[in-house]
Amino acid sequence: MIGHAVQDVRRFLVTHVHGDHYSLASRVRSITGAETYLGEGERQSLRAITEADIDERMRQALRDAGAQTLADSWEPHELGTPDSWADPSAWIKDGHEIDLGNRTLLTVTTPGHTLGHCIFVDPSTALTFTGDHVLPRITPSVGFEAFIRDNPLRDYIRSLQRLLTRPDTRLLPAHGDPCDSTHARVSELLAHHESRLAETLAAAAGAGPSTPFEIAARLTWTRRRRSFTALGPNDASLATMETRAHLEALCDRLLVHKVSTDARDAYAVA
Ligand SMILES: [Zn+2]
Repeated sequence: MIGHAVQDVRRFLVTHVHGDHYSLASRVRSITGAETYLGEGERQSLRAITEADIDERMRQALRDAGAQTLADSWEPHELGTPDSWADPSAWIKDGHEIDLGNRTLLTVTTPGHTLGHCIFVDPSTALTFTGDHVLPRITPSVGFEAFIRDNPLRDYIRSLQRLLTRPDTRLLPAHGDPCDSTHARVSELLAHHESRLAETLAAAAGAGPSTPFEIAARLTWTRRRRSFTALGPNDASLATMETRAHLEALCDRLLVHKVSTDARDAYAVA
């Protein structure tokens, strides 16, 4: 459509390891010889995705969050071919500059949605390719990755705040239409998470130690404020782990504390 065939693509700059971003580029690379670039922080996830026990680890993460029923209904991942998940041609770091001939893109690491998420900034034309870090219509999921790590929401909020310290640019997201101001959307996302943190704190209060699954069930979901029980198993799993991420961030702010047992994690208002 723009006068080039897929074979003409020489480099894929991939913002993060998720299947709707990385694996097709990796597969095309195996056919055409193009290069793939991926943030160094995704090494552990890329390895974890292809490990044989990935589904059992996802089930265990749900059990730890008190979601036994969701763990029981967890459907195994469809992984595709092994070359879909090959290591990239290059692991890139924060500040890495990519020379495109007529312009240079700057890599900015934005951990949060995934640990190794990167965005690509073109300062000369004030454009940012934000991947899933900043999306115009929805909030990217935080807290459900191929390996579960501490405090992904704290990382995500810091990565959003970092963008506000940089010059504003036009926003080119991975999903949805471009927007004129990255800063405007970042501010909305920060406000959204502050209000979700307040709602999560309120849902954790007054009921004694509760699991992320139990607290997620006291919250409403999506912009239409659906009940937790109206969500399908996949969305309920994301919601449970997103609630865990908010609870971990509240622990970091000393508003909630974790009361773990061998079988599951529970949280109580401090
Ligand atoms: Zn993603």
